[in-house]
Amino acid sequence: AKQNGRNNYQFFVPEMNARAMQRLQLESALRLGIDRGELVLHFQPQQHMESGRIIACEALVRWQHPELGMVPPIQFIPMAEDSGLILPLGEWVLREACRQQVIWKNQGIHLTMAINIAALQFQQADFVERVAGILAETGAVAADIELEITESALLASTETLIGRLNQLRALGLSLALDDFGTGYSCLAYLKRLPIERLKIDRSFVKDLPGDTEDAAIASATLSMARDLGMMVTAEGVENEAQREWLLQRKCTLCQGYLISPPRPAGTLTEWLRKEMS
Ligand code: C2E
Ligand code: CA
Ligand code: CA
Ligand code: CA
Repeated sequence: AKQNGRNNYQFFVPEMNARAMQRLQLESALRLGIDRGELVLHFQPQQHMESGRIIACEALVRWQHPELGMVPPIQFIPMAEDSGLILPLGEWVLREACRQQVIWKNQGIHLTMAINIAALQFQQADFVERVAGILAETGAVAADIELEITESALLASTETLIGRLNQLRALGLSLALDDFGTGYSCLAYLKRLPIERLKIDRSFVKDLPGDTEDAAIASATLSMARDLGMMVTAEGVENEAQREWLLQRKCTLCQGYLISPPRPAGTLTEWLRKEMS
């Protein structure tokens, strides 16, 4: 095939899926980008609804590509999950988010750091050791870190995975179930999971309080969580009507553009200083 590469090239290219090609290029660019330090974290504050205090933030990764500019995660996280690149990427996010948590803590800004964990990451046999290693390396205290694990990563809630969640709890980490309600799962699995927080997905918050179905789902989630002794974070809160509705139903934390968009560490530091003073 190599010898008449030109012929093959001309023969195959039209047949090749242009998107597959693009994806391959993006994948190798991301591989390079991770090594070259092109990833950055932004942080979105989470507000304790009852007191109005900012008590946590979620680390959200962005890719600062030299030519493409700021690439949003939706454009590379799925590809990173398929290719396995999510493992080095996720490890970088964990380390960097822990590092930033410690920096803020040393400046007197005490926030719980919530960190997204991809299914593939969580499924690694040595995931707990990796997390423990990063805590030791960065000096972050387990109690200051919350791992957000998607519902879909726990669909097959095997003994091994539940055991792993228990090990993380034993280390002192908090666990949140991310994108709750989007995984079409049976609710019975919830009682088996050592998880203290549900995150109501933005898709259910977006049309609150007007949309009857979404209101029913969000309401049911909140009362079920309360009965199970779990806390709830609502994501994607954009307006006062949503906040008021959630506050009335005793939602614990809210996160969304109404409070603040995700911001780079420096910008968030200034914002927090104003917010806290
Ligand atoms: P997510 O975990 O559900 O994160 C919340 C997303 O909602 C973020 O999008 C955030 O910027 C956006 N958002 C927050 N408040 C509002 C709002 O009021 N209105 C609207 N319209 N959107 C809001 P982002 O940063 O683009 O991240 C998208 C997804 O990419 C995340 O969804 C998460 O699944 C994934 N992701 C981001 N960072 C990481 C990471 O470090 N590791 C992994 N595994 N996944 C990540
Ligand atoms: Ca999340
Ligand atoms: Ca979500
Ligand atoms: Ca509807």
